[in-house]
Amino acid sequence: MEDTETLWQSSLSDPWDREHLWHPYTSAIDPLPTYKVTGAHGNRIILADGTELIDGMSSWWAAIHGYNHPEINDAAKEQIDKMSHVMFGGLTHAPAIELGKLLLKMAPPAMHNIFFADSGSVAVEVAMKMAIQAAISRSGSHSRTNFATIRSGYHGDTWNAMSVCDPVTGMHGAFGSALPVRYFVPQPVSRFNGEWNPDDIVPLRTLLEQKSDEIAAVILEPIVQGAGGMWFYHPQYLREARKLCDQFGVYLIFDEIATGFWRTGKPFAWEHAGVQPDIMCVGKGLTAGYLTLSAVLTTEEVARTISQGEAGVLMHGPTFMANPLACAIACASLRLLEKQPMSAILENMEASLRKGLAPARELTDDVADVRVLGSIGVIEVKQPVDVGRFQRECVRRKVWIRPFGRNIYVMPPYITPDEDLAHLANEMIEIIRSGKWK
Ligand code: PMP
Repeated sequence: MEDTETLWQSSLSDPWDREHLWHPYTSAIDPLPTYKVTGAHGNRIILADGTELIDGMSSWWAAIHGYNHPEINDAAKEQIDKMSHVMFGGLTHAPAIELGKLLLKMAPPAMHNIFFADSGSVAVEVAMKMAIQAAISRSGSHSRTNFATIRSGYHGDTWNAMSVCDPVTGMHGAFGSALPVRYFVPQPVSRFNGEWNPDDIVPLRTLLEQKSDEIAAVILEPIVQGAGGMWFYHPQYLREARKLCDQFGVYLIFDEIATGFWRTGKPFAWEHAGVQPDIMCVGKGLTAGYLTLSAVLTTEEVARTISQGEAGVLMHGPTFMANPLACAIACASLRLLEKQPMSAILENMEASLRKGLAPARELTDDVADVRVLGSIGVIEVKQPVDVGRFQRECVRRKVWIRPFGRNIYVMPPYITPDEDLAHLANEMIEIIRSGKWK
C-alpha cells in the first residue's frame, strides 16, 4: 500500500491551486486537499499519477451516463461546428426545440411551458420569481410574496435559493439578516418505505391556515432531501401538500434538480407520489454533467397568469439562456435515457447498493442509519465525518466518495458495473470500520 500511496500523493494539492483557487466549501488559507485529475472515462476518474478511481459521486450527481460518453461527445462536436451560442432573445434553434420536446415527454403531464436557465440555483431563483409573479397576478394582492418549505432542505447557493435552505445546516448563519425570512415547518419524519404518520402534515396545514395570504408557493425537494441531509420521506407528504396548496391557493414548486432523470428509480421523483407540481426545476443530470444548464417547467395556467399580470412577461432573461451547445448535449443525454431500459437498470442498482450496504447496519457504534433509493446509497454515521481524512482513505482505496456532515453516500453513474457498486459499498463500510474518518 505504501508505494501506491507515494504515487497518488504526487496528484495531491497543486501549490499554485492551493494558493490562488477557491474550492467549494473549504478555507482559502487552509484548504482541504484537492487531487489533480487529468481525465475521466466511463465510471473512472484518472489522477495525474495514473491512479484510476471508481466514481461514486457522478460529479455531484450530474454525470449520469459516466464520463466521455461517445454519443454525447459526438453531439457536442457536431453542435460546436454549427454554433456554440446565439442569444435566445428574438432567435431560436433546433437544440432548444428538440430539448423542450424531449423534456415535456418525460415531465409531469401538466407541464406545458419551459424556461431554460443557467444552473440549478438560478432555476430555483426563476421558479420563485415565477411563483411570485403568478401569485400576485392570480390573487390581485401584492402581499403574496413569501415562501414556505420544510426543514433540512437544500435548493442552491444564490440569494433566494439560500433563503429556503435549512436555516440551521444551510447558510443562514453566515448572512444573518441579509437573507429574506421564509416560513419553515419540520421535515416529515415518516420514512419513504415506512408507515405514514398523519401528524407529519399538521405543521404545514397550520401554517397555511394562518399565513397563506402571504405565501406565493411551497417549495419542496420531492421524496429525497439531498444536500440538506440525504433524507427519504413518505410520498403521502407530497399528496397532502398538494391538497393543501390547492385548498389555500398557493403554488407548489418541486425542486427535482437532484432527484430528476431517474436518480430515485423513476424519471422524476413526483412519480412516487403521483401528484404534480405547478412549477418544477431540473438541472444537474439534464446535461449529463457536461455543461451547466437547467430548466424550469410550468403549467399553462402559471405561464398564462404571469403573461396576463402587471408586467405581462416573466422578468428574467439570462445571457446564456438555452445555450445551444448545452441543449444539444442534453438532447443526446435524454435520447440515451429513452433508448435504455432505465427502470430495470435502476432496480438493479438499488438491489446492488442494498446488498452492498447491508453489513453497515451491524456497525451500531458508528452507524445511525442505512438507506437506499434508486441509485442513492447512504450510510448516516453518528458523528460528523472528517472529509479530508475520509477522502485520503478513499483515494488510497481507489474510490471517489465525498461525504458531508454525518452522511457518507454514493450516487454513482448509471453505467456503473455491479462489481464496482459492490466495491464502492464495501470501501464505505471498511473505512467506517477502520475509524479513519473521525
Ligand atoms: N437544488 C437541489 C435540490 C440541489 O441538490 C442543488 C445542487 N446540489 C441545487 C438546487 C443547486 O444547483 P446548482 O449547484 O447547479 O446551482
